[in-house]
Amino acid sequence: MIDPNRPYEALLAERASQLSTLCVHAGGDESRHGALDLPITLSSAFGFASADEAAGAFKGENDAYIYGRWGNPNIDALEAKIAALEGAEAAGVTASGMAAISGAVLSICQSGDHVVAPRSMYGESARLLRERLPRFGITTTFVDARDAGAYEAAITKATKLLYLETPSNPVLAVADVGAVVRLAKERGLLTIADNTFATPFAQTPLALGVDLVVHSMTKALGGHGDAIGGALAGREDLVTVAKDLVVKGFGGVLAPFNAFLVDRGLRTFALRQAQACGTAAFLAARLAEHPKVLRAYHPSLPTHMGHAFARQQMHAFGSLLAFELAGATPLESGKRVLEAVRVATHAVSLGDVRTLLVHPASTTHSTMPKETRALADITDGLLRLSVGIEGRNDLWGDLEQALARA
Ligand code: PLP
Repeated sequence: MIDPNRPYEALLAERASQLSTLCVHAGGDESRHGALDLPITLSSAFGFASADEAAGAFKGENDAYIYGRWGNPNIDALEAKIAALEGAEAAGVTASGMAAISGAVLSICQSGDHVVAPRSMYGESARLLRERLPRFGITTTFVDARDAGAYEAAITKATKLLYLETPSNPVLAVADVGAVVRLAKERGLLTIADNTFATPFAQTPLALGVDLVVHSMTKALGGHGDAIGGALAGREDLVTVAKDLVVKGFGGVLAPFNAFLVDRGLRTFALRQAQACGTAAFLAARLAEHPKVLRAYHPSLPTHMGHAFARQQMHAFGSLLAFELAGATPLESGKRVLEAVRVATHAVSLGDVRTLLVHPASTTHSTMPKETRALADITDGLLRLSVGIEGRNDLWGDLEQALARA
């Protein structure tokens, strides 16, 4: 889907133009008193116009709001926008990305079921599958997601779900989504894809046949680092069951104020992503040639293992990249680079308007044994960069001066 014969910047501008009207208007703008934005409805319960309306609302015969954990106008508007951007029949929003992920898995699997998931995935999602769900009889086999054959080999009679996170954290490994979806359909299994890293700007997994997409809206959808939130999108029956479980049942409801913030952030989502994806490809190409850099990881690089799959299945190469420092003391070099950046910010998370830099070996993964880190592709000199919307020359200048201290 990423045509090598067209300039990448032109393709990004075209994708932004395809999505921007939805970003601004999907979910409706209608509001009271002429306000251009839907006001934030801060009401835990909603009054009824009549006894019949109340009875009808409880029977699902009208769309009157009843109670804030069951529905709210800001939540409805945001769900419609997420569904439009993912090309989904339905979407549901949740209190966080982890609420969406745990709700999605638990709505599909029950005791005795088995999941196949990537070895390299967001740490808390891995912990959910590895440490928490076995208590409830749900087990997982972790595989190298770059190899669809590894998914096939891990399937057992108990398998119910194939879980994807592509490109993955932190070295942007790309799975062959089409092959995993074909396998799932042949075996009667369901697929979930965490689309947080790619975002619907760069990848629409439902169009590739995935059943359910999950998101941390905390990242690029919200985009401003000010709200935690999650989303589910896909077939209406699957979304309805998952949302009912996680929002109504477990109470993982998104606050109306956060729904408003994410909805407002989404208005500029496509423009932000076009800028960030272009800058990420620019920085990745420069980093790959820098003498202090052993290796750069970004799906746009022809040397990247997942480059061909990314071209086939993505609309853009994404706004995250990683690079590994060369030299005898990469752990120390990594810390020096972190402390030297001035335009980029040393912080976890991703998808923000600010460029964010992390050094997993000295921070998020420092307590993990080195050998276990290596299995998750986290070497001592690895840095992950979530590219924001700052000027590309400012960012490159910042990285160059920081690398000079590596
Ligand atoms: N999925 C991915 C890929 C993530 O990076 C994260 C958080 O970093 C999550 C899910 C969890 O999202 P949240 O922090 O909103 O619960």
